[in-house]
Amino acid sequence: MAHLIDGKAVAAKIRAQLKEETARMKEERGDVPGLAVIRVGEDPASKVYVGGKRKAAEEIGFNSWEHHYDAGVSQAEIIAKVQELNANPAVHGMLIQLPLPKHIDADAVMAAVKPEKDADGFHVVNAGLLAIGRPGPRPCTPLGVMRLLKEIRYDPTGKHAVVVGRSNIVGKPMALMLLQANATVTICHSKSDLPREVREADLLVAAVGVPELVKGEWIKQGAVVIDVGVNRQPTGKLVGDVEFATASQRASYITPVPGGVGPMTIAMLMQNAMDAAKRAGR
Ligand code: NDP
Repeated sequence: MAHLIDGKAVAAKIRAQLKEETARMKEERGDVPGLAVIRVGEDPASKVYVGGKRKAAEEIGFNSWEHHYDAGVSQAEIIAKVQELNANPAVHGMLIQLPLPKHIDADAVMAAVKPEKDADGFHVVNAGLLAIGRPGPRPCTPLGVMRLLKEIRYDPTGKHAVVVGRSNIVGKPMALMLLQANATVTICHSKSDLPREVREADLLVAAVGVPELVKGEWIKQGAVVIDVGVNRQPTGKLVGDVEFATASQRASYITPVPGGVGPMTIAMLMQNAMDAAKRAGR
């Protein structure tokens, strides 16, 4: 039976450390990290996510701002706000909550963010820094996965890591981070022979968005299984991308859904804002 990786507990520990660091920064610099969020429209999930991010930021002691716009706002107005936040020294990190309404080009808005203030790590400059192995803000979800691996003292060196999903926010940066950590990496997507690839995985990261797509019987005995997927069942229950009950019979470690990767994403966003504030204060 696999050990559970308690992301909720690890995330709480990170938030507590950040709270201490913030208090120290206030004492030493008279300044605290500032995180600004831009939200457009009334997408209910976005509202919940932004609420969670603001709550975490405020509990840690960061300055936090939410700039909310009606769905009809123009792209120019959003970009003007991004430029204003770029110029504001109290704002160390910012993020644009996705999705944006269809008439706004999300890539253009994100490209307007100063790369140093890109708390989500999605800016093309930061994606490029990750690709060539240089430091920079990293996307929060894969960063959270790396932190969980560290927590269980799992060294990916020489291991065969299989990442299912190739999105720009999870799958691709995840694969690059594991490559940087010396794993041999396979990236799977909707055209892959999933059972064949997953069977070879010492470390599996599933980031698909299809409930229980990865069957427990495909999991290699003793593998480490990280389930990024969050899928709401018609019953209201949340399930991951991995068939948890059977996979946990074969894995050595596994993340639950909820309570695994999810809480780490917000904790890493806070870490990115702290890192940006430290860089800005140098
Ligand atoms: P996307 O929809 O952007 O990407 C999904 C990926 O899965 C694509 O690369 C797609 O392949 C691949 N895929 C789809 N169907 C299959 C299949 N049958 N077999 C193999 N691969 C398949 O999703 P995201 O990366 O944004 O998110 C993935 C999951 O992670 C979602 O459940 C999301 O809710 C969750 N998530 C959780 C977070 C957290 O904090 N816990 C944060 C972000 C996401 P192709 O490219 O070929 O279409």
